[in-house]
Amino acid sequence: MKLSNSYIGLPEDFYQVINPLPVKSPKLIAFNEDLAKDLSLTMDLDEALKYFSGNSVPENTTPIALNYAGHQFGNFVHELGDGRATLLGEIEVDKERFDVQLKGSGPTKFSRQGDGRSALGPVIREYIISEAMHHLNIPTTRALAAVSTGEHVFREQIEPGGILTRIAKSHIRVGTFEYFASRQQWENVKLLADYTIQRHFPEIRELDNHYLELLKAVSNGQSKLIAKWMSVGFIHGVMNTDNFTISGETLDYGPCAFMDEYDPATVYSSIDHGGRYAFGNQPSIAAWNLASLAGCLISFIDNDSKKANELATKVLDDFSINTNQEILNVMCQKIGLDGNSDQHQTILKDLLKIMIPNQADYILSFRYLGQALLDKDSLFLDQFKEKEKIKEWLSNWKLTVKELDLDAEELVKKMDSINPIYIPRNHNVDNAIKAAYEDNLEPMHELLEVLKNPFKENKKYSHLTVPPKEEEKILQTFCGT
Ligand code: AMP
Ligand code: MG
Repeated sequence: MKLSNSYIGLPEDFYQVINPLPVKSPKLIAFNEDLAKDLSLTMDLDEALKYFSGNSVPENTTPIALNYAGHQFGNFVHELGDGRATLLGEIEVDKERFDVQLKGSGPTKFSRQGDGRSALGPVIREYIISEAMHHLNIPTTRALAAVSTGEHVFREQIEPGGILTRIAKSHIRVGTFEYFASRQQWENVKLLADYTIQRHFPEIRELDNHYLELLKAVSNGQSKLIAKWMSVGFIHGVMNTDNFTISGETLDYGPCAFMDEYDPATVYSSIDHGGRYAFGNQPSIAAWNLASLAGCLISFIDNDSKKANELATKVLDDFSINTNQEILNVMCQKIGLDGNSDQHQTILKDLLKIMIPNQADYILSFRYLGQALLDKDSLFLDQFKEKEKIKEWLSNWKLTVKELDLDAEELVKKMDSINPIYIPRNHNVDNAIKAAYEDNLEPMHELLEVLKNPFKENKKYSHLTVPPKEEEKILQTFCGT
């Protein structure tokens, strides 16, 4: 495996040089052959096990743990950093760099009281959900390998240990900027900004105000990302600034979950007591996180602080407006309509309003709406309790679609290409983890297989489309750290 290290070109304060700590008896429980191929990685499974357990470090690379700070639930934490991860190095593919990071690879100087390890459950969870996100066409870090370590970790109970190999466009977070800005190390903030521009947004180098453009570029990426999350019911769960990327990828799958029944107030995370990161709050939290980034960059935006503030505020205001519109666009597309039309927006909002008290399934309601256009209403109507209300909405929607004079079959195809039928539902992910804990990896691999084609119905997997029964519902998810 040929890795390089561009991040160690930055000053020493940015990282700690550290090797992963070897583990007792590692087993490769998943290896993402497709991703390995995309990264032009050629290795056999023995080699994969060696490197992705941390028991062997590839030649010619210098593994590091990255330094960062962050706002957690709104409170600033001065020092966080990779307490249980090491960046093995970077892979270059078509002039783009990708981080290869081991998560759960042993203590670093950022570990504080932690053991630097990860339980196997959260490793499997991140593997399944991040891959599902990728196949749903949502920017995300990816999972290259999962290893069980043969060691135990001590959490609320004793659990088997695991290591995830994560591939990311980078691991630069808003919290990385905050680390240096909070210490008033402006030279380092600037170095980080320049590194980020070079790596992620090289086109900015041609423009006038680099640091304002950086803020804009990050905002644009996040706008699209958040809209995509909203369109599939993804709840990140810990949108702290240390989990908020500059690259626009979804990062850190801790207590995240896909919502079954639609309700904007939905929260799964056991640590989110106030509902700060509830489904419907995600756009405004993203704006909050971007404001933190703006604070780090502000002094580079203009020498005149009033002008710098005005310029940054405009970017943040635009972010909120654009994100709102982006969400309307993707949501209206889900019902075959146009997010720029007031009439269509109203139809969307009416549907969402009916869905809440009906506890309608977020995935199946949209997926089966297409069928209703082909006069197979029942699957759609089954998602609702108040039949009269939803029938009235449905006929109004059908009339509107008819006025557009589109080919119905074509439109349904288009809707089906953005309304998934398979998502990693909580109860299915949980079953896969429970089975893996009993040495049965089949449910995990079945789920991974199905989630590769989330838009294409396959009758063989109909059990994975079904929302949880009352007794199967998982109401809380945990970080597992
Ligand atoms: P996360 O919840 O993964 O976003 O992690 C938040 C912070 O806690 C990061 O600085 C992690 O590196 C650190 N952390 C989480 N779990 C552990 C652990 N088991 N050992 C050491 N540090 C940890
Ligand atoms: Mg994190």
